[in-house]
Amino acid sequence: MQTDHLTDLNVALNCVRKLRNQVRTVYFQLENGPEVDTQNDLTKDKEAQYVFDLQRSLGGVQAAVRDVEQFVSTLSAPLQLFQLGNVGQISLDENKESASLYVNTATWHRWADKVHEYAGIAWHILNQNSLKRSYFGGHSYAAQKRRRMQNLGFQANPQVDSSILNIGRNLPELSIDLSRPFGNSAVLQITIGRVIKAVVMLKGLMIEWVQIKSFTEDFSGEDGKLDIWTDSRYKVFRKVTEHANSAMLHFSSPIYPELGVKSFLVWLHHYTKLFCDPCKRCGRHLQNLLPPTWRDVRSMEPYHEECRL
Ligand SMILES: [Zn+2]
Repeated sequence: MQTDHLTDLNVALNCVRKLRNQVRTVYFQLENGPEVDTQNDLTKDKEAQYVFDLQRSLGGVQAAVRDVEQFVSTLSAPLQLFQLGNVGQISLDENKESASLYVNTATWHRWADKVHEYAGIAWHILNQNSLKRSYFGGHSYAAQKRRRMQNLGFQANPQVDSSILNIGRNLPELSIDLSRPFGNSAVLQITIGRVIKAVVMLKGLMIEWVQIKSFTEDFSGEDGKLDIWTDSRYKVFRKVTEHANSAMLHFSSPIYPELGVKSFLVWLHHYTKLFCDPCKRCGRHLQNLLPPTWRDVRSMEPYHEECRL
């Protein structure tokens, strides 16, 4: 599009150049006038020739003007360059130092437009991402405040305890031990069958941290205190920890935090048969020496990491 525009501009400039040449020829002829040849008495012939040449030059000027008008009318104004309001006046400044100012300004405006456009697209895409953990709906302060009021993630301790108790009651395969070794935040130490031990740290009812280990490992640090940071020494449980973190983000719901925790724990309890269930897709137990470490967040079915949909 831009190339076409430049081609048209070149053609129009060539027409202007041709017009200038034609006009210069006319002025040149007018300045010199007809040749005078008194010796051979050919003055009349020369005058006739002169008038003929002048008419031809003027005809050329007329044709060149027509060409210029025709091509200029086909040129469309470059909109982006002419929408800068008063800044457009800079382009009229004859000072050489300010000659590049207008072009630079126009370039930066175009750049800013693109940034705005890309940011809009990115916003749209990110908005579809349900993994966000904070609720940034609304633009006004009032809207933000209203949203914050709806965020029920940070509840008082007794409410958290009763919610976890309720959830645990519905999931008998899970043994949940709630404690608060780090102050207000509740830490759930969960045992799933004889396969997995998990630590889930909550802030209110929002899950902040998940660590998965094997049934044979424990979460005691060297000083005997609870250590929620050290990874499992088994690759399979480190992989399950990764998946559990992505599932935790998937189920996270600032508006219905209890539902988020419950959905996550229901999902987690499907690891009871971690080493028994074959992959739903390839039907095999092992792939890359690992069992199906992923549980689908909707169907809860087992998949290898490479086989998940
Ligand atoms: Zn598979």
